[in-house]
Amino acid sequence: MRKVDFSKIDISGYAFLIELKYLLSKEGASLKEIPILLKNRRGGESKISNHIISEGVFAPWKMIFKKINRSCPVCEKKTAVFFTKKNSFNFFRCNDCGLIFISPVPDNNLKIYSSDYFSGAKNGFGYVDYETDKRAMSSSLNSYLDKIEKILPKKGNLLDVGTATGFFMEIADKRGWKTKGVEFSEYAAQKARDKKLDVRTGTLENAGLEENSFNLVTLWDVVEHLSNPKATLSSVYRVLKKDGLIAINTPDSGSFFARILNKRWHLIVPPEHLFLFSQKSLAKLLKEIGFETLLIGRIGKKFTMQYAVQILAGKKEKSALSRLAKILVNNRLGKMIIPFSLGDNFFLLARKN
Ligand SMILES: [Zn+2]
Repeated sequence: MRKVDFSKIDISGYAFLIELKYLLSKEGASLKEIPILLKNRRGGESKISNHIISEGVFAPWKMIFKKINRSCPVCEKKTAVFFTKKNSFNFFRCNDCGLIFISPVPDNNLKIYSSDYFSGAKNGFGYVDYETDKRAMSSSLNSYLDKIEKILPKKGNLLDVGTATGFFMEIADKRGWKTKGVEFSEYAAQKARDKKLDVRTGTLENAGLEENSFNLVTLWDVVEHLSNPKATLSSVYRVLKKDGLIAINTPDSGSFFARILNKRWHLIVPPEHLFLFSQKSLAKLLKEIGFETLLIGRIGKKFTMQYAVQILAGKKEKSALSRLAKILVNNRLGKMIIPFSLGDNFFLLARKN
């Protein structure tokens, strides 16, 4: 009750109950009415005026209209409606482009990317064993590079944003790219530097990289974590050379699986994932910055058995699946690589014109 802003109720008649019920439901509470029957009431005139009756008739429609009240960060129009509440964070969904976004964006959410994030998954998110999970992804990463190299046969300077422990940089190095990386987590960045990789700690915006200096910028499983995707993607645009490419993979909020699961989609995990793009919304944002989208497609992902079980277990710490996930951590079966494609991720390639 305390969370409800009563000053927002603007219905003056009896229909204020409809509005109060609606406001409470948005906070996850419900209101029950207990009817009082006046048995001995005889004839007479109703004191309910026409004004009050019409307010009651129009109230539900007003509620529906009022729901559309958030500005979509991509469309920049009031096209977003409340979608769901998870771990006390509110998510909104744009009716136009399909973007699912957190609002307000939590500050200092980058704190979660400590060593725990890359090994241990103690808070119910992150990776139990990042190195093993990335090994499972190497076939996807190689197929991304196959597609990129068809368009960009001359291998030049590559910047990997959100490079983690440098797994992709090693793959790209082997294929002849000159790689640099930026990584927010000091723990992961140091791990990458231990492998003699050129990785700066911090965000792309404050990395101090030279303008027009890269042929390719990659963001693997990164944009969904950014607190301001537009700012970061604009920085990508600045550091890219003309005709340079940006390559992204990210969850697909418009995918069949995401739509079926709706609010229960396992990739809505705040404060880890803040922006869940559809193919349409990401292409729209990139176009606004100045990119031309060349291709969008789905590529099946591969994970370890352990990671797949952990996803299915979700956040329920004490469930049987969660216990199984823990057993699989140090188990050969758990390290087994399985194709685990739910088709709810997409790959996008765009060019700086
Ligand atoms: Zn939108």
